[in-house]
Amino acid sequence: MNTLLAWEPWIRVAAFAAAFLTLAAWESAAPRRRLNLERHWRWPHNLALVVVGTLLLRAVFPLAAVGAAALAAQAGWGLLNRLPVGGAIAFILTLLVLDLAIWAQHRLFHRVPLLWRLHRMHHADLDLDVTSGLRFHPLELALSMLIKIGVVLLLGAPPLAVLAFEVLLNASSLFNHANIALSPRADAVLRWLVVTPDMHRVHHSWDPRETDTNFGFNLSCWDRLFGTYLAQPSLGHLGMTIGLHEFRDPGELRLDRMLRQPFVATQR
Ligand SMILES: [Zn+2]
Ligand SMILES: [Zn+2]
Repeated sequence: MNTLLAWEPWIRVAAFAAAFLTLAAWESAAPRRRLNLERHWRWPHNLALVVVGTLLLRAVFPLAAVGAAALAAQAGWGLLNRLPVGGAIAFILTLLVLDLAIWAQHRLFHRVPLLWRLHRMHHADLDLDVTSGLRFHPLELALSMLIKIGVVLLLGAPPLAVLAFEVLLNASSLFNHANIALSPRADAVLRWLVVTPDMHRVHHSWDPRETDTNFGFNLSCWDRLFGTYLAQPSLGHLGMTIGLHEFRDPGELRLDRMLRQPFVATQR
């Protein structure tokens, strides 16, 4: 357990770097849409936001969700630590339950006005690419962490499964925000299991009827199951507008303005 906790930051960084560099190169080679703004406009700010968010999260929650899982395992807390469940089943159940929890939380952040103020910063990006998958307000990250720790403790999730889920979520968030062109056939096949870039792009449409669909990050089944699935944007992927009506000024893509957005009153 201690070995896992010691290696945990390096496993995360290595997986993140591999996914990020691969997708960034893929975007250059085969982009899905023409970006409205060049990378150098958005990337320094989106990447600086990741640094701020990660440092803050590590400072407030040094042990994070994996630490909470280790604590639950030691103390025998949570459902899976009480039931005679095999390791493989506990692992798969943890991936499924955490993914459903993230889906439900995402829906809640759209539904509750105060939470939407935190989450809308993610939607205010005027383009979608690999860096958009990292663009979350630190307060949203902190609240998500609290919710995740709660789910991990109740479930008694194994620490390795929690780490696997977080590494997977990070990589899939980079993937489904990436501005990469997949063939329609590849998209259709992948979409039966996971959220593809085309599926998540619908969620970033400025049309609220489309924004409030496709809440999934990993598995595509939750939106199909709960009736929030929308296959394509009405204006098509090249014709649709990305972002929000209330934040169209490219100045809003700056780090200081992003951090301020939850405190700016606007009409949705
Ligand atoms: Zn959203
Ligand atoms: Zn998104």
